[in-house]
Amino acid sequence: MRFSGLRVLTEGLTGNRGWTAHWRDPEPKPAYDIVIIGGGGHGLATAYYLAREHGLRNIAVLEKGYLGGGNVGRNTTIVRANYGLPGNSEFYSHSLTLWEGLEQELNFNVMHSQRGVINLFHSDGQRDAYARRGNAMVNQGDDAILLDRDGVRRLAPYLDFDNGRFPVYGGLYHPRGGTARHDAVAWGYARGADQRGVDLIQNCEVTGIDIQNGKVTGVQTSRGAIRAGKVGIVVAGRSSQVAAMAGMRLPIESHVLQAFVTEGLKPVIDTVVTFGMGHFYISQSDKGGLVFGGDIDMYASYAARGNLPAVEHVMEAGMALMPMIGKARVLRSWGGIMDMSPDGSPVIDRTGIEGLYLNCGWCYGGFKAVPGSGHCFAHLLATGRPHAAAAQFRLDRFRTGAGIMDEEGTGAQHNLH
Ligand SMILES: Cc1cc2nc3c(=O)[nH]c(=O)nc-3n(C[C@H](O)[C@H](O)[C@H](O)COP(=O)(O)OP(=O)(O)OC[C@H]3O[C@@H](n4cnc5c(N)ncnc54)[C@H](O)[C@@H]3O)c2cc1C
Repeated sequence: MRFSGLRVLTEGLTGNRGWTAHWRDPEPKPAYDIVIIGGGGHGLATAYYLAREHGLRNIAVLEKGYLGGGNVGRNTTIVRANYGLPGNSEFYSHSLTLWEGLEQELNFNVMHSQRGVINLFHSDGQRDAYARRGNAMVNQGDDAILLDRDGVRRLAPYLDFDNGRFPVYGGLYHPRGGTARHDAVAWGYARGADQRGVDLIQNCEVTGIDIQNGKVTGVQTSRGAIRAGKVGIVVAGRSSQVAAMAGMRLPIESHVLQAFVTEGLKPVIDTVVTFGMGHFYISQSDKGGLVFGGDIDMYASYAARGNLPAVEHVMEAGMALMPMIGKARVLRSWGGIMDMSPDGSPVIDRTGIEGLYLNCGWCYGGFKAVPGSGHCFAHLLATGRPHAAAAQFRLDRFRTGAGIMDEEGTGAQHNLH
């Protein structure tokens, strides 16, 4: 089934009876060439690119719940390529390029909206840091414009520019950044993978990883044993638990991150705005809700819900930046489980077990990474070699100390440094 304007019109005139399911609901087969554990954005994108770019078909994605029920459907949807360090810079640039052709490629409306991202700065020192970051972005081939205070005022006049503690000095503007509809990305990749023969198996929890003589041979699941030539672990907040099934202890902590949405309002915020000093960021959804969030809850947890101190912190930061937000009523808040790595950068790598591969450590920034991560992980799984854009995401950097990528000089948890 392909989507097109003509198809929408025809279906609208004929009672919408011609639409079919986006993907099959297959029974698991006894064996696959490749098993992907985790049907989030990264797992589904990996399966899609394995089929599309490498011609592999005998693949299963095993998801313990439903497709897109994890963080890929819980995030605040920001897509950007404004990273500064070598290693990260080229990877997120690669991912943004894939985003830009994604809707045509998947024939699916993921509502990718390049409305621009403004990172505010509030001191001379922070301006210097953002100027450096902007130069790195431009050198990488991406776009960055350093705005002074008036430049920010033209784009976001509703900010409190003269806040006593955090006066706005200016901002780093990234016009190609923006947002996308989070679960549509999962659905688009799922549909594309299914069309190419990948089995997407929901309600199938992996409970064990079978290893013989240092080589992976398959997985145990709530729907029986499945043999596999290769296994990819792509389970975000559950990475440590699933890796432990293979006897591995990962340098990953799982933390809660919360997000919030208000009642629908008329359009007022037409870019993404981030307030790093207060740890707050905001955009407005196409339905009109103000979508915003802040820092992680700062304790390890597998509960996908948050606590009140973090709620208070986010609301305070929002009020400091844009007092008008106090008039909006918050409708909902929710949490997701973040796979926090020590240096804030991810892992896309082999493990010490032959045939077992790992994709994790996305912290609170893995939504924008979905296309790039799937593309690079598929390359690694299919060829055995790291993709050039993800060459520095090695697991052993935490043991050797070589190649650490500490994006902000603070590690992954700003408040603890
Ligand atoms: C509140 C919030 C806001 C965020 N905002 C942004 C943002 O604005 N921009 C951005 O870039 N990123 C953001 N993120 C981060 C981003 O959502 C994640 O980094 C990314 O979605 C993680 O990858 P994923 O999509 O594959 O994870 P998930 O969707 O969590 O997928 C992992 C899947 O693995 C499955 N699984 C786990 N264990 C097993 C098992 N044993 N067997 C089978 N399946 C299993 C889970 O059920 C889950 O579906 C945010 C996250 C949250 C929570």
